[in-house]
Amino acid sequence: MNTDTATIQTFEHDVVIIGAGGAGLRAAIECSAQGLDTAVVCKSLLGKAHTVMAEGGAAAALGHNDPRDNWKVHFRDTMRGGKFLNHWRMAELHALHSADRIRELEEWGAVFDRNSDGYINQRPFGGHRYSRLAHTGDRTGLEILRTLQDHGVHQGIHVHQECTALTLLKDSDRISGVFGYWRDSGRFVVFKAKAVVISTGGAGKCWRITSNSWEYTGDGMEMAYSSGADLIDMEFTQFHPTGMVWPLSVRGILVTEGVRGEGGILLNSEGDRFMFRYIPDRFREETADSPEESQRWLEGETSARRPPELLTRDVVAKAILEEVDKGRGSPHGGAFLDIAGQRDAELIKRKLPSMYHQFRELAEVDITKEKMEVGPTLHYMMGGIAVDGETQMTSVPGLFACGECTGGMHGANRLGGNSLSDLLVFGWLAGRGVGVYIGALGNSPQVLSDQVEQARRDAVAPLNCDDGENPYLLHEELQYIMNKDCNIVRTGDGLERAIVELHKLKGKARRVQVSGASQYNPAWHEALSLRSMIVVAEAVALSALVRQESRGAHTRLDFDGEHEEWGKLNVVVSRQADGSMGVRKVDRGSPPDHLAAIAYSNLDSLEGGVHV
Ligand SMILES: Cc1cc2nc3c(=O)[nH]c(=O)nc-3n(C[C@H](O)[C@H](O)[C@H](O)COP(=O)(O)OP(=O)(O)OC[C@H]3O[C@@H](n4cnc5c(N)ncnc54)[C@H](O)[C@@H]3O)c2cc1C
Repeated sequence: MNTDTATIQTFEHDVVIIGAGGAGLRAAIECSAQGLDTAVVCKSLLGKAHTVMAEGGAAAALGHNDPRDNWKVHFRDTMRGGKFLNHWRMAELHALHSADRIRELEEWGAVFDRNSDGYINQRPFGGHRYSRLAHTGDRTGLEILRTLQDHGVHQGIHVHQECTALTLLKDSDRISGVFGYWRDSGRFVVFKAKAVVISTGGAGKCWRITSNSWEYTGDGMEMAYSSGADLIDMEFTQFHPTGMVWPLSVRGILVTEGVRGEGGILLNSEGDRFMFRYIPDRFREETADSPEESQRWLEGETSARRPPELLTRDVVAKAILEEVDKGRGSPHGGAFLDIAGQRDAELIKRKLPSMYHQFRELAEVDITKEKMEVGPTLHYMMGGIAVDGETQMTSVPGLFACGECTGGMHGANRLGGNSLSDLLVFGWLAGRGVGVYIGALGNSPQVLSDQVEQARRDAVAPLNCDDGENPYLLHEELQYIMNKDCNIVRTGDGLERAIVELHKLKGKARRVQVSGASQYNPAWHEALSLRSMIVVAEAVALSALVRQESRGAHTRLDFDGEHEEWGKLNVVVSRQADGSMGVRKVDRGSPPDHLAAIAYSNLDSLEGGVHV
């Protein structure tokens, strides 16, 4: 395919935001509120992003269901959940501002479920000390995204949908725009911009069993990395404990933690409620040690401790894995999740309507009468693009990032519900950061035609290749490597093997071939996203090999438990001058005293604090 660079369709905006999930839309709203000409570019249709799939809710210390809750307890829970590896300032900002961001959504028209006092209702979730998740049944993401879209569109943001961003353009060291293509026509497009915000979400499609949908191929992480930004904490990949395991066609689809939040319990094939046997010492003081105490907690008794099914995701996922390994798994290699025996049918249908329909339609299981079969599924990337916590700018001037594609905020393990609030807080901060950056910018950066030409050549290479590799088969190979050696548990030998295999795969991917033209050509889309997935996969494998300990979502069978010295280090990945991937350990510095005091404090000193 030939296209003259000079004839490529071009748009010009002050700021271009890549991704129309919660983070991108919240950033767009903030940019546009500051009078910036703001555009959002998204790979699928507006409204189709992971944010819309979020079921359980958004965590914010509103204190509606338990007045003891406040930002400090939320901050402490987040740090403990992240095994103290979280970026201190980001975790502080997140806990401080989540409640305001939820209230703001309500002002913009979001309808959340109510408690008996008429306030936004908050449900319990893993790792959160108190009931903290604002929710709309099990369709919270839909309500949040609908609200952000309505608000943003009425504020005048431009939307370019079904357009895939491929390459960031730079003028010297500064960002100057984005090169991409329309997915239907295959035509190329250039967006000139003074600033770019990446909010492209995760990269679950690198793994075979995942809750993620087709868009999540790590494009934003790859674009940022290739343009000189760092990736951080890539070894921390979250496996959600409860994905569907049967039938095979739906393996990996998420079963919300809300099921356990509403009282669902986990059982093995012997009918044993095994989570009582997997309570880590760190969480013992706040976890119930009997079914009776768990029940009292669910009924709101404040002196009771939360059920062990609501331990953090890394703990629950590994417990299920161990039960399966010991031969006590469910028939299809998972565990049983039972809500039918705990709650009446009417409540299940009202509180968990999507789960009810999901199991009825996809697995022919009535969850009001039968147990579900569930097992770990790759769900979320804690690692991602390294940003400044206050502004969300990367090390590349004019390049910002927010949402799941960034790293740092969640440390070694994200608590459920903390992603939706992360999107709102850091989308907002990114928008403010862009405003400050553009306000101080002198002359506008220019789009350089040789860069556009190079991006175009790279994009059409698979179409111009005569005899090469099939992109679908390479994707399968990649997923096989990641599921085998970069999975929920890892070993040094396995990771070294994965790195060798990924290098071979990279070689094959250079010769990927796609027949036909660029119009409506899914194989071409696959070939282009494969490049991103290989970069992400390599970054995960290299980082996981470097971190010689087990912490949160990163479990090394050859290095037992957390090691103090590793708690002081981040693993950072960056592109080297020769194009190879470099990986290094970076000292995190000491935590600020006031935050360390909260994170390591006992709860009594925090309860009853100020709600912000
Ligand atoms: C099934 C499910 C349930 C979940 N439930 C919860 C929950 O209850 N609570 C919670 O806190 N979190 C939950 N999560 C996690 C949470 O939904 C995500 O982490 C979050 O929505 C990510 O938001 P985001 O704005 O960063 O990206 P997304 O919402 O994932 O949006 C990414 C956007 O980027 C676009 N994009 C990607 N690549 C490109 C490209 N190359 N060019 C142009 N556009 C591109 C996509 O089309 C999309 O518009 C859940 C996730 C899943 C999958």
